[in-house]
Amino acid sequence: MFERPIFVISAPSGGGKNSLINILLQKEPRLQHSISSTTRQRRANEIDGINYHFLTRPEFEKRIAENQFIEYARVLDNYYGTEIAELDRIFKQGKYPILDIDVQGAQTLRGKELRMVSLFIVPPDMVELERRLRARGSETEAEIQSRLELARLEIMEKDNFDYVVVNDDLMKAAEELAQVVRTHMV
Ligand code: 5GP
Repeated sequence: MFERPIFVISAPSGGGKNSLINILLQKEPRLQHSISSTTRQRRANEIDGINYHFLTRPEFEKRIAENQFIEYARVLDNYYGTEIAELDRIFKQGKYPILDIDVQGAQTLRGKELRMVSLFIVPPDMVELERRLRARGSETEAEIQSRLELARLEIMEKDNFDYVVVNDDLMKAAEELAQVVRTHMV
């Protein structure tokens, strides 16, 4: 479907993935973050069209029916998905898309005819993951518990990914990701 590879990064929520991706994007300007669509509520620090395209549920479901998504998943009661148009937009700019999606999304893409390099980021341990999730302060206690439970399940899938990177030291992990990505760009 596309000539160049897409890069997929999955990590349990709160694992420091966003900071890592931001550093990676600075290190490697040929990458461009693929902006997903979601029905999740916007967090206070998020901007529509930059972090996500925030859609209503009916609008999201309409786009599912119209086959506008290359993959989508329901995560914690909300829809999240990558639109084909978003990947087209990035490729047209001569860049490589980097998709920050969950393990279900990565699994869906494995079944498609495309070149994909998948990376899984693991937190150093569950205690640290819980600490990071709480430090963010954007979820209720119940939501934190669901995200921790989901993280345990997601980490069990890490062996399905091409690369596993431990996010212990942020700069070190970002450099590791950059090196992997560059290997696949030539
Ligand atoms: P958050 O609510 O913390 O922004 O994201 C929750 C989860 O949804 C994360 O694991 C994130 O990677 C995943 N996610 C974000 N965008 C997409 C997408 O387009 N597709 C899929 N399958 N998952 C996504």
